[in-house]
Formats: sequence, structure tokens, C-alpha cells
Amino acid sequence: MTAQPLDDTLDLTEFRSTVRAFANAEILPGAAERDESKEFPARLMRRLAEQDLMGISVPEEFGGLGLSTRAQLVAVEEVARADAALASIYTAHYLGLEPILVGGTEEQKKRWLPGLASGEVLAGFALTEPDAGSDIASMRTVARREDDGWHLSGSKTFISNAREADLVVLFAKTDPSAGFRGITAFAVPKGTPGISYSEPQDKMGIRSAPTYTVYLDDVVLPHDAVIGTEGRGGNIALTALNRARIDVAAMANGIALRAWELGREYASERKQFGHPIFEFQAIQLLLGECDAKLVASRVTADWASDVKDAGQDLRRAASISKYVATEACFSIVDQVVQIHGGAGFMRESEIERLYRDCRILRIFEGTSQIQLLTIAGNAPSIRSTEY
Ligand SMILES: Cc1cc2nc3c(=O)[nH]c(=O)nc-3n(C[C@H](O)[C@H](O)[C@H](O)COP(=O)(O)OP(=O)(O)OC[C@H]3O[C@@H](n4cnc5c(N)ncnc54)[C@H](O)[C@@H]3O)c2cc1C
Repeated sequence: MTAQPLDDTLDLTEFRSTVRAFANAEILPGAAERDESKEFPARLMRRLAEQDLMGISVPEEFGGLGLSTRAQLVAVEEVARADAALASIYTAHYLGLEPILVGGTEEQKKRWLPGLASGEVLAGFALTEPDAGSDIASMRTVARREDDGWHLSGSKTFISNAREADLVVLFAKTDPSAGFRGITAFAVPKGTPGISYSEPQDKMGIRSAPTYTVYLDDVVLPHDAVIGTEGRGGNIALTALNRARIDVAAMANGIALRAWELGREYASERKQFGHPIFEFQAIQLLLGECDAKLVASRVTADWASDVKDAGQDLRRAASISKYVATEACFSIVDQVVQIHGGAGFMRESEIERLYRDCRILRIFEGTSQIQLLTIAGNAPSIRSTEY
């Protein structure tokens, strides 16, 4: 992957103001209702496309804006600040297009990326299986090469956007005896015969971002549905996940920012012992800690973005940014629930939804433990002068 052109002409502060104004006007107001109804926000996804936000870091030659990862993070953060569920659908789209960007042939990039970048084509990413989560090499979905194409059988679970997506990148074993090296990535368009879906899974949070179990019953795909080459799927999946983990960090930072805003607001309005609770040092300490954690997480995500855009090895930076931001987000949201007292436990309060929504961030796209293992795995090769 070559380095992306950096957007030295884009004013990120201005870009943030534009996306925030849009998110405040159109996304934030209905977030609680969508959490209740669990309805897929198709109209808002179209609005994100109309705002030109679906292919921010996709190179211009493939129909994207060709901007830096930092610009993409600004958009993800602002969408997540307004509605984490919408941000989850949005980032799953970016995760779904990454395999084509990093592993597709020129022909596949030309065929798929313009539609993905414009938002006309919504993407999904199907890796996890009932018995293969952190350990992707244990997947059981198989693809057999026949004269008429690839025949796929098996199942995937917890797949975001699966039924709504126009294109799902799905991973299967083309050589079951070869473990990780036997995995191949396939482009699976919507409506392919032999695919069926469970009902949307009932979840603790991000409830309007549906996930499904996907069943593959002798699904036949053309030979050119293989993304890149046979046996490269494991590498493609991990590379795509590393790149997309920075988006999860941005989601965390967006939710954390909203939580901090809510905490600060509530602390100035709520009076006890004749004073706004903000005047109590115990509350100030909580808010100070939230602010410090949020700034540290943002700086870390920006650093990982720059590592990505420089085309450097991203594994350690991506894991550090996801780990730092998602753990900080959980702690910030929890402290803001504390600032709200009993009101923060009530379904009607926004912070209660944020508390449920943010919990997934420490699990999907690699749990916090898996991030730490990746970070530790890189330790022997890090020179102390890099600190
Ligand atoms: C809402 C939601 C949306 C999702 N969207 C998608 C999607 O779009 N596409 C997709 O492919 N997947 C998706 N996933 C799946 C998600 O990525 C997995 O849930 C995640 O990777 C963890 O896998 P698992 O659930 O099987 O947990 P497991 O791998 O079974 O892990 C269980 C526990 O064991 C720990 N553990 C496992 N191995 C080790 C180890 N070696 N050392 C230490 N601890 C370990 C984990 O950290 C965890 O605490 C989604 C999941 C959810 C809940």
C-alpha cells in the first residue's frame, strides 16, 4: 500500500465544524428513538453519502476524496458523538471496503471502489464465525473451486450490515489444511443465491446497527470473486482490521467527547448542598480525568493515522490507538454516569445509552486483550529511541 496524499489544503477544524453542524442537526436528535426502535437508519446513511463522507480516505483515482486518515477520523468521531450506532454502521462500511483497497486487483478496485466511496454501495465484512472469533484461523466456512466457480458453505456470526450491505467481503478456507494461509477473501454481492440471514441479533447497545448470523448454503461465486489471490485472505483480513481499528478509536473518542459534554453540563446544572455539584472538588477531579484521557486518546489516534498515511507498519500503532481510546472511553462514560448519580441510570438519560453503546468498542475488531497481545508481540523489535 502506498502512502495517501495528505490533505494540506483541508482545514480540519473547519471540516469538523461542518460535520458537527450536520450531525447536530440531523443525527443527534433521533438517536434515542432509533435505539428504542432498533430500525436500520437507511435515510441517514444516504445523508452521509450526500455529504460525501463515505470514501474520505479512498484515493481520488478510485472515486474517493483522497484525504488523510485524520480527516476520516474527524468524520467518524463527529458521527459517533451524535449516534454511536450510526457510527458503527458507518465504520463497518469502511472496514468492508478496506480489503478491496489493500488486497484487490486493479480491476476489482476500479469495479468496486467508486460505488463504495460514493456510498451507492454499502459494505460489510464477514470474518467471525460461531467457533472462530479472536482465532480466525479456526474458521470452518469453506470454499471449493469447481468449473462453474467457487462453492461456499458455512456460517458467519455478529456480522454488521450483513443484510443491508450491497457488497460483503467474506472470508473462507480454500485450503482447510493450511490454517491461516488457507484463508481467501471473496467479494459477495447482495442477492447472491444460497445466502440467508438470521433476524437482527438483540444487543445491549448500538441497537440500530444490526448484526446477523449469515448462512451460506452452497453459494456459487464466479472465479474472479477472489479478492487478490487465493490464500491471501488471512493477511488481507488482518491488514484491513489494523487500518479500521483507528476508526474504532475515533468512535470511542466521539462517544467520550459527548459523555464529557454531558458531564460538564449536568455538573453545572445539578445543585446539592446549595451549590452546583461542579463546585465540589470530587466532581472536578472526575471531569479533569475525563478531559485528560480524551486528549491523550485523540493524540494517540492522530499518531496512528500518521503511521498509516506514511505507509509504515501499522500493527502496533493501530492496536495502541484502539486499546487506549476504547478503554478511556469506557472509563469516561462510567465516570459521567457517576456524575449524574441516579439520573444516569435511567433509560431516559443520554449517558445511559452511551454507557451501553460504548461497551462493544472493547470487544469488536479485536478485544482489548488481543490488542495488548499484538502490542506485546511487537516489543522485541521496538528501539527505545522510538519513544
Ligand atoms: C455488535 C458486534 C458487531 C460485530 N461486527 C462484526 C463484523 O461486522 N464482522 C465480523 O467479522 N465480526 C464482527 N463482530 C465480531 C467481533 O469482532 C468478535 O466478537 C470479536 O473479535 C471477539 O471474538 P469472540 O466474540 O468470538 O470472542 P472470543 O474470541 O471467544 O474471546 C472471548 C474472550 O477470550 C479472550 N481471548 C481469546 N483469545 C485469547 C488469547 N489468545 N489470549 C487472551 N485472551 C483471549 C478475549 O479477549 C475475550 O475476552 C461483531 C461483534 C459484535 C458483538
